[in-house]
Amino acid sequence: MIDYHIHLENGPYTLEWLEEFWRQAQKQGIREIGITEHCHKFSEFYPMFAPLTEGEGSYQYMRDWITQDFQHDLAQYIELLLNARSAGIPVKIGLELDYLSGMESVARRIIDQYPFDFILGSVHVIGKWGFDFAPDVWEGRDVNQAYLDYYATLDQAVDSGLFDIAAHFDLIKVWGQRPDHTLIPALEALVEGILAKVAANQLSLELSSAGWRKPVGEQYPACIIIQRAADMQIPVTFASDAHYPWDVGADWKRLTEIAGRYGYQEYSVYTNRQRISVPL
Ligand SMILES: [Zn+2]
Ligand SMILES: [Zn+2]
Repeated sequence: MIDYHIHLENGPYTLEWLEEFWRQAQKQGIREIGITEHCHKFSEFYPMFAPLTEGEGSYQYMRDWITQDFQHDLAQYIELLLNARSAGIPVKIGLELDYLSGMESVARRIIDQYPFDFILGSVHVIGKWGFDFAPDVWEGRDVNQAYLDYYATLDQAVDSGLFDIAAHFDLIKVWGQRPDHTLIPALEALVEGILAKVAANQLSLELSSAGWRKPVGEQYPACIIIQRAADMQIPVTFASDAHYPWDVGADWKRLTEIAGRYGYQEYSVYTNRQRISVPL
């Protein structure tokens, strides 16, 4: 088994800290870990996010966050992961890259300079609204519109050519807000179209246990999405989205049971942004 979504951000970027994640992985029966730090930990990505703090639609939460983040150096992060590999840890060099509409070429210029094994594609920001920071950023927001806008952004993201894996596909549900029933057919049609692009662009779909640790209490993505992905023969990866060592490999057996229910018999692993399938 793999865990292809892990963050080091709550500790120092050192081999000792990374080894704690690997120790937990071994305990859980994980054979390969993918470290996927958020792009906004690195100063290189600041120009991509700076416009979110200015002009119409910008808000204080985003300004505060942007002044605190972007403290690390991307080259040093890569070096740490290469050192870990030299020390015998089976680690893949990943990145969780935010999709920000209009910033595709800025992102591409940065990621093309480094030897990534895979890039996770995430939508955490709709326009200038970072919807997953905290539940209170939803105050005064129209939930139906948020769902529609989220999937419109995800649709662009999977078509951007930036990513290998679509991470937490239905993250918009994170705090437990749900759209009206009357909106479901429209959302299903949107999701169907996005999955078709995931398939056409040969991305993998991430199956993530992180949602079980969030207010929504459900894996990402929902079973109905996994079922449609299986119908379209979209390959999958497995992920915990661990932000601390103790969450590495969390609930992976439960994820594989769900995948098996829909006929999945293999999953994707990546090297130098090339995908191969291995048996489940
Ligand atoms: Zn994320
Ligand atoms: Zn993450």
